[in-house]
Amino acid sequence: MHEFNLIQKYFTWDNPPENVAMTVGDDAAIMDLPKNKQLVTSVDTLISGVHFPKETPAQAIGYKALAVSLSDLAAMGASPKWFTLALTLPEINQSWLEDFSQGLKKLAQEHQCFLVGGDTTKGPLSISIQVMGLVDSGKALLRSGAKSGDKLYVTGTLGDANAGLDYLLNNSQVLAPEARQYCQKRLNYPIPRLVESAAIKDLASSCIDLSDGLLQDLSHILSASSIGAKLDLSQLPLSLALRTLEDKNSLAYALAGGDDYELLFTTSKENESKLLSRIGDKVTCIGSIAKDIHGIIDKAGKQLESSGYNHFND
Ligand code: ADP
Ligand code: MG
Repeated sequence: MHEFNLIQKYFTWDNPPENVAMTVGDDAAIMDLPKNKQLVTSVDTLISGVHFPKETPAQAIGYKALAVSLSDLAAMGASPKWFTLALTLPEINQSWLEDFSQGLKKLAQEHQCFLVGGDTTKGPLSISIQVMGLVDSGKALLRSGAKSGDKLYVTGTLGDANAGLDYLLNNSQVLAPEARQYCQKRLNYPIPRLVESAAIKDLASSCIDLSDGLLQDLSHILSASSIGAKLDLSQLPLSLALRTLEDKNSLAYALAGGDDYELLFTTSKENESKLLSRIGDKVTCIGSIAKDIHGIIDKAGKQLESSGYNHFND
């Protein structure tokens, strides 16, 4: 199969939205931008054996490559619109491409994010997705807006993906088989929190998506906002799967495990009741922000170290 046919078959989608003036097929894509909106863009690369285990099903790879990019838009309070795909493949394997493009397209359609272009090359398997979205001008959620007295909230549950990865990579036996399955699903199919993002975007003072672990990502909000936080470890939201573990194991996954793709955000006390009435069942308060705290402490005042995933640290 020629590269041209591959692009035509798997990555040229029908019915582009009206705002796409040129999609896959020319030298570049063209999109119309509405007035009073800002373009928000982010790119993420997933490399086989680094960002996902080599055995990961193709459908999950396609899904996750887009999901992690959409998660960045969710963290900014932006609505996804378009994306491009740079794909490096070791070989042309049609059944792999079929599954990959299916996983990708299903999620893209769910969030009305249209594939407008890309690049296809030969080499070790790697997927880069650049996502583009829109936000009302001046209204993006940043890491830098947390204020003293704000409450700290998180969506979903923490640590599941890392528990799933620990089983796959290290054959960790702490999880029962059903719990393992659940955690692997959370690892392979993270849900970009776009619904929650839309609900909090006018209420949150700062926001980040959790890719490198709660402590590490919280520390980004804190340094961008020049402030500290107190975490209530007893309030960390844990799935039924993680609640079957000893506290020390579930806490390690929840505090330092990567790949959650939940939203971590702060909100003022005044906005809290509105937040809870909108999505109280989808968020958990895990602490508060205070200017007299250095870094992150627990309720007893003990300093918590952030030691999340770092690509250049072994
Ligand atoms: P050029 O050499 O001009 O860059 P390419 O052959 O790389 O052209 O791409 C031709 C068209 O196909 C372009 O519109 C490009 O955006 C699109 N394209 C290439 N690879 C992909 C892909 N993996 N997914 C989506 N579109 C792609
Ligand atoms: Mg090209």
